Order: sequence, then structure tokens, then C-alpha cells
Amino acid sequence: MKPDIPFDTTQLLIGGVWRGAASGATLMLENPSDGSALATIARGAAADIDASVGAARAALDAGDWGRCSAAERGRVLARIGLAVAAQADELARLEALDVGKPLKQGRADALALARYLEFYAGACDKIHGETLPYLNGYTVLTLREPHGVTGHIVPWNYPMQIVGRSVGAALAMGNACVLKPAEEACLTVLAFARIAQQAGLPDGALNVVTGLGEEAGAALSAHPGIDHVSFTGSVATGALVQAAAARSAVPVTLELGGKSPQLVFADADIDAALPFLVNAGIQNAGQTCSAASRILVERSVYADVRERMAARYKALRVGPALADLDVGPVISRRQRDVIEHYLALARDSGLAVAAQAALVADVPAGGHYVRPTLLADVPEAHAVAQQEIFGPVQVLIPFDGEADALAIANGTPFGLVAGVWTRDGGRQLRMARALKCGQVFVNNYGAGGGVELPFGGVKLSGHGREKGFEALYGFSTLKTVAIHHG
Ligand code: NAD
Repeated sequence: MKPDIPFDTTQLLIGGVWRGAASGATLMLENPSDGSALATIARGAAADIDASVGAARAALDAGDWGRCSAAERGRVLARIGLAVAAQADELARLEALDVGKPLKQGRADALALARYLEFYAGACDKIHGETLPYLNGYTVLTLREPHGVTGHIVPWNYPMQIVGRSVGAALAMGNACVLKPAEEACLTVLAFARIAQQAGLPDGALNVVTGLGEEAGAALSAHPGIDHVSFTGSVATGALVQAAAARSAVPVTLELGGKSPQLVFADADIDAALPFLVNAGIQNAGQTCSAASRILVERSVYADVRERMAARYKALRVGPALADLDVGPVISRRQRDVIEHYLALARDSGLAVAAQAALVADVPAGGHYVRPTLLADVPEAHAVAQQEIFGPVQVLIPFDGEADALAIANGTPFGLVAGVWTRDGGRQLRMARALKCGQVFVNNYGAGGGVELPFGGVKLSGHGREKGFEALYGFSTLKTVAIHHG
């Protein structure tokens, strides 16, 4: 039986009006839990992006959105946040069907989206410019202004959270947004746009164009009418987006991939660390940019950590998203093939498999399931220890002392986040300073994902920061006004 989706998924939102793609073309979404056809979406392309950029500009120049005060923007965002929270269960169901995410994770994502809106609602009227001391006879002030029309290109793995952090902050600063969700999964983005509209977001403040990356996404990043692009996705696509935006000298935020480590020192509270070590590798079937895909362990406790992580792997339950187990399917057959390719490389190199979780007995044959796998004693230069696999695969690497741990931790092309487990206060600070990445967690991993915490990477993990107050600077520009009054 086809799942119940309580709105027309074939429409785009442009200037407050829901309608099909200009070309009339459509795409099909798949349910990753069983491989069945889930819903038809519009295949928006350049003409729809152009109409959306125009609608966003009109909302700023002549619409209600451009006339809103900061406090009024805050009230609208707060209303949307409350409405999202009230519909968290339904959003979780849609996310389970579309992304293959267990219900509890989808619900957590919906509540995170609501929390982003709550946080940015409160921030709207609390960000401001300054007056600067200058030459006698001058008054100099700075005005913090929105960029204007912002483009948002979002992947399929955490659509709600990523929309919350980028669109939430952009709207708070008074930008008008054009949002391009991923072609693999976009139901919760469409549902969110409807919720926002019903909660009173003025027409044109948020426009949503579903479609293919190389059509709608490429048209958005190259559009001369865009003033800023926020891109979350792969390194290769991020480079294309940045190059396209460079033609109009448009600033870009890139939130890309990672190969993030957790470092476990011998003096750590290993009981406390264990759930974080495993969960950070298997959450969302490992399809998380900040997944801890490398676990580095000091040699004297390595065998113990390996054994105890393996026991947790063996207890994982893997199956359909609506069954709400520990791990669901991965997003697509293509993604499963990529992960299986890395597992074959590990096999061909004779790497040790410390543990592999089993699938529940009755997984649907058409679903895209991968057995979560813990690889042990992995050489740090091996492809599985260097490249982002984006699946439920973790590698265990032993180390000897701080210098060795740091060299391995910093020894990939990525730099998104890192975790450090140690009771030694001096070491905590030395590691936090020396790790090359955008976030360091000491004696935790992820810190509950707080919306307050600026997030982003260095090296191939990207540049620019989203989340927290920092995002508001990213989604605005500063104008200096120097008044000579004698
Ligand atoms: P992807 O780069 O293939 O797609 C991401 C988005 O870009 C999609 O909306 C897609 O339609 C669009 N796109 C594709 N081609 C495009 C083009 N030529 N021009 C413009 N847009 C285009 O990434 P993916 O495989 O869907 O997502 C997984 C990647 O995203 C992983 O590398 C993961 O680490 C990364 N990611 C990063 C973060 C973060 O915050 N750093 C968060 C989630 C995912």
C-alpha cells in the first residue's frame, strides 16, 4: 500500500504560490526501506530558479517581508518553530519514509529544526552594528544588513536540521531564501515550507525548488541575482558551486564532508566513552558529515576498547525505518554500492573485521541495507581510514602517546570535528588547540548538537560557520557609514 502523504508533493513554492515545474517534468522519490516508489516531485530547473530569485527579490523590495521589523521577523520565526514542534511526529514519519531514518532520529531532527527557529527568532532583534571612535568631527557607525537573496543547497541526510540552521539564520537576518533540497529526499522540506506559510511567513521570503543538482542546483549557484550561497554536501559539488558563484563574486559557505576522529587515551572514562564511540559511527546509518568514522585508541587500552565496541556492534538492530530500530537502510542502491566497495577494499587488504551487526530477520528485499562494520588495526594511510565512506563503517587505529595521536588525527584531507577522551586537564587543552578542525568535544561527542554551537570545517571540510550567533554574521554584511559633521 502506498504511504499516505498528506500534501501535493509535485509542487514548487515560488512567491507564495504552489505550482508544478515550468517544464512540467517530474522525478520519483524512493523509499529506501523497501525500494518502492514513494512520491512524485517536480523536476524544477533554470526557469523555476529564475522565477524564485525574482520572487525573493520582490519580497525584499516590494513585499511584506522586506517591510518586517526585526521583532516582527522574530515573531514569525517563533510561530513557525512552535508549529514544527507540534508536528514532530508527522515530520518524523515522512523522514522515515523518505530518508530511511529510524523514527526516533527523525523526531529528534524535527525538534532540532523547531529549536533552530526558536533560537533565531530570539536573535533577530539582538544583533546590531556599532559606533566607532574616529577623527574629531566624524561619527562613524556600522550597519549589519542582510545579503539580500540567499541560495540554500541542502543534502538528503539531515534535511530538517540543515534547513533549520541555514534558512533559519538567513531569515532571521532579513534575507529572502531560495531553497533547493536534494533529489533523493525532500518531503520534510516541502512539509516545512507549508508549515511556514501557514504560520504567516510572507510570500517570497522562502521559495522551494525541488529538482536535480546538475539542473536546479547548478542554476541556483550560477544565478547572477543571488547574493550569497550556503551549500551543504560533497566536496566535489561544493567546488562546482563555489566556482559557479565566483563568476558573480558571490560569497559562499561550504559545509562539506569529514573523516572525524575520536581519540581515546588510556586515562579516559571508557565506560562513559563507549556509547559515544559507537553511536557517532552508526547514527543515520553513518550518513552524517560529523560521523566519528575513525576511533584512535591508546595502545594499552586498545584491545579492551575493541572488544567492548565489538560487543555493542553485535547488539545493534538493523532494519526498516518505521520499525524504529538502531540503524535503518542507507539512502540508495548507489550509496550502498559505494559502502560495499570500501568493505571490499578492506577485505582485499586483509583488514580485520572486529564486528559486523546483523540485519533483522525480515528486511524487505528491495531495501538498501548495509551491515554496520567495525574494522580493526587499520593502517592510517588505507583508503578506509582516509576517505569519507558515508556509511556505518568505523575504523579502529592504535596510537602511542599524544604526538602520535595528533599526527594520525590531523592526517587526513578533512577537518570537521574531533572528540577527545581523557581525564588529564592539560592534555584536554593541548589536544583542543592542536586538532585541526571546526569543533572539538572533550569527554563527549557532539554535545547534543546544540544549535548555539558554531559549526563548520577547515581543509576539505569547507569554510564559513553555521549555527549559533556566528551564522548571523555569515548571513549578513557590514556597511560602514562615516558622517562628517565638523
Ligand atoms: P551532493 O554534493 O551530491 O548533493 C548535495 C546537494 O547538492 C543536493 O541538493 C544536490 O542536488 C546538489 N547538487 C548536486 N550537483 C550539483 C551541482 N552541480 N550544482 C549545484 N548543486 C548540486 O552530496 P550528497 O551526496 O547528497 O551528500 C553527502 C555529502 O554531504 C557528504 O560528503 C557529507 O559529508 C556532506 N554533508 C556535510 C554536512 C556538513 O554540515 N558539513 C552535512 C550533511 C552532509
